[in-house]
Amino acid sequence: MKKVHIVPHMHWDREWYFSTEESRILLVNNMEEIMDMLENNPNYPYYVLDGQTSILEDYFAVKPENKDRVRNLIQAGKLIIGPWYTQTDEMIVGGESIVRNLLYGIKDSEEFGAPMRIGYLPDSFGQSSQMPQILNGFDIKYSIFWRGTSERHGTDQTEFYWETADGSKVLVQLFPLGYAIGKYLPEDESELQKRLDKYFTVLDKKATTENLIIPNGHDQMPIQKNIFEVMEKLHDLYPDREFFLSKYENVFDELEKNHTLPTIQGEFLDGKYMRVHRSIYSTRMDIKSANARIENKITNILEPLATIAYRLGFEYHHGLIELIWKEIMKNHAHDSIGSCCSDKVHREIMSRFYLAEEKTDQLIEFYKRKITDATDVNYKEDRLTAFNLLPYERNEVVTTEVITKLSSFELKDFQDNTIPFELIDKTELDPGLIDRQIVHYGNYDPFYKYTVQLKDHIPAMGYKTYYIVDCDQTNYDTTFEEKDVVETDFYRISVNSNGTLNIFDKENQEEYQNVLLLENGGDDGDEYDYSPLLNEKLIYSTQLNAENKIVQNQFETHIRIHLTLPVPSDLEYRKAGKRDSKVTVDWNITIPNHKALIKIEAEIDNQARDHRLRAFIPTNIASKFSVSDNQFGYIRRDVYDSAMDIWEKENWNERPDSIYPMLSYVGLSDDRHGLSVLTNSTREYEIVGENYDTIAITLFRSIGVLGKEELVRRPGRPSGIKLPTPDSQMLGKQTLEFAIVAYKGSTIEANVARMAKEYLTPIETYNKIPYNAMKLNPSEVKTPENYSLFIEENSNAVLSTLKKPEKDDGLVLRIFNPGEEEESSFHMSNHVCKAFEANLNEEVVSSLDTRDEKLRVKLRENQVKTVLIK
Ligand SMILES: [Zn+2]
Repeated sequence: MKKVHIVPHMHWDREWYFSTEESRILLVNNMEEIMDMLENNPNYPYYVLDGQTSILEDYFAVKPENKDRVRNLIQAGKLIIGPWYTQTDEMIVGGESIVRNLLYGIKDSEEFGAPMRIGYLPDSFGQSSQMPQILNGFDIKYSIFWRGTSERHGTDQTEFYWETADGSKVLVQLFPLGYAIGKYLPEDESELQKRLDKYFTVLDKKATTENLIIPNGHDQMPIQKNIFEVMEKLHDLYPDREFFLSKYENVFDELEKNHTLPTIQGEFLDGKYMRVHRSIYSTRMDIKSANARIENKITNILEPLATIAYRLGFEYHHGLIELIWKEIMKNHAHDSIGSCCSDKVHREIMSRFYLAEEKTDQLIEFYKRKITDATDVNYKEDRLTAFNLLPYERNEVVTTEVITKLSSFELKDFQDNTIPFELIDKTELDPGLIDRQIVHYGNYDPFYKYTVQLKDHIPAMGYKTYYIVDCDQTNYDTTFEEKDVVETDFYRISVNSNGTLNIFDKENQEEYQNVLLLENGGDDGDEYDYSPLLNEKLIYSTQLNAENKIVQNQFETHIRIHLTLPVPSDLEYRKAGKRDSKVTVDWNITIPNHKALIKIEAEIDNQARDHRLRAFIPTNIASKFSVSDNQFGYIRRDVYDSAMDIWEKENWNERPDSIYPMLSYVGLSDDRHGLSVLTNSTREYEIVGENYDTIAITLFRSIGVLGKEELVRRPGRPSGIKLPTPDSQMLGKQTLEFAIVAYKGSTIEANVARMAKEYLTPIETYNKIPYNAMKLNPSEVKTPENYSLFIEENSNAVLSTLKKPEKDDGLVLRIFNPGEEEESSFHMSNHVCKAFEANLNEEVVSSLDTRDEKLRVKLRENQVKTVLIK
């Protein structure tokens, strides 16, 4: 007899085409009804609160008096909460963000009772291949989702094991028809039967056991009060089936009895049975860029810096850091980061990013100041401190500002060596801007702001102090010279008249031509999906006349390119072939002379509507697959999705263009060499060209509707609603950052993940002067002039983050291996008493070998490991 589990729940998009403020009012209303039912009706056993604790946070902000009521229901097992903080996206949200989403979600749940131990993401637009590993890291063995599967992954059933390369494994219960088939179940028998007959046909066919699930809920749906009446009708209509109110855990208990389920691997990003929106990754590029930039700042700069400060004796501000994470995790909900919301909601999202970034920047500044202020030296001079937050020594060009009253100065290190530097700029600064008290007491003498550039070795995971010493005269001659062609240790680069670059890669004796060619085409889509015009002639920057200027000094090269691409102002003009509007692009390119990195900043000013702009990076490598990163690993994807040939015949919901997400890099390579794009902004790419040899990265897409029907790539009903969203046209200015790097060997062998990490972890500096508007009392802590917390000795692993454990003293070091199995070792500067391997929830799993003050960690391919150091 079929057992039909009717699971009461609500799917709570905190915001979408409606604001968080609107949904919060509904929440306060709905929660009362849910609690009332659970408290007063013994036959109503469970209610699932959408797997996310932000709902509780929103609720208690206005109803703190109901905490005990909620706690009682949770502890009685009736109200089911967690494990997530929000319903996260898995495609363009970083590994640490997903880990913290579970970490804080579980922590917040445990204040009230035990969380649901299911990786419940019923609506996320595609499933990351690394999810089983992340879930297992929190002792979660089950997963429920809807979008992204098809038979070609190896099974057409709704239950299977899903595993990652490192051996992690979860048991999956798929919702083949989504999370809302049981929404507002009608009491009318014929209507009820009509609906369920259709569902049972699919559920019966795809289930591996007698257990079926009808999730009784929908987006923002209030509790269905007449569910008992409906269930009586169901008993009458289907006497051969057993219906009962249930919870997802009960289903897994039943599934555990079946030992013959298939095991499959990989990501799920097929739009066959449900939409996954391959191309949503570039909607509202301002939102996407802000997320990339802030995620990188928190994990690459703030947390390691706070950890160094903590090791030196300062407080680790868990509370402030949790506030920052929660601010951005609200934006990581699938609709929010997808940016398929109303303009009003996108403004709210941007304001959260603004708050998160301001908190991050100010906390970074605070820690740099604390460490630098406390340096234990007799020198009275001003100081400049350079921080390297990677676990190896780096020889870097540092461009920074020095503010001083001195009309000339030199830089000395702790051994009294003079450090040569080059002056880039010198301006006068009003003293009131530094501290209004200076002017208040009648001193109007100006300060000078010097922009200086130097190159030096900065210690691993630590810092180096320089002293700003008065001197009679300094040789400020700049070595910047105008050039036609750039020569660095790695490249010879020239700029073509149309603003593209020709890059000769000296190491591989390979020339890449027309790098940064622009491609522009119409976008007749919506906030969910890109939709090309049929038979459109695309516009390229090939024939443009761009202005450019190249200057190079002893340290690096700057290339500035200004170009204006004439484009049609909207789809009507585009169809008519009239280019009456424009996009201007300013490329600001910085190339260190001693490194293989080409750093690119694009300042874009868009004046046109309904179009997409991409930059092409040719690699000369005809490729079958690309390599890019997802959370804690790499992923190989075919450059051409073979389902493109059959999607129409098989009635896919969505055309499977090979438009894909990345987190920090994408590369093409052969056995000999490769080329990659690293990114601190856009996370969308497609491999294009007749031979699939060119990386196209999306700079932005511009559309004006939340959801449309009948798109070229997505036939049928609109996604979301047909609401105008003029802000998504992305009119005006925005800035993107990415980089290009060439290397020997394949993308995996060359360890491009580490190159991306280094690109995303710039050297940070702090300039200590005797003035600061915000006073701090001197601290008791004394810090050394130079410092290194630890150094890696032999490692191909990538640092994910370094932090203080949430509950205990010590350090959390998280690393991952984006390549073949390996053993990493780290040398700790302070005596390591004990080190343990921990799970992602920072709980000890086993102790680690720390002979000779060395920490040894073995990592399988694409494996992430957390080390607790005491
Ligand atoms: Zn949703």
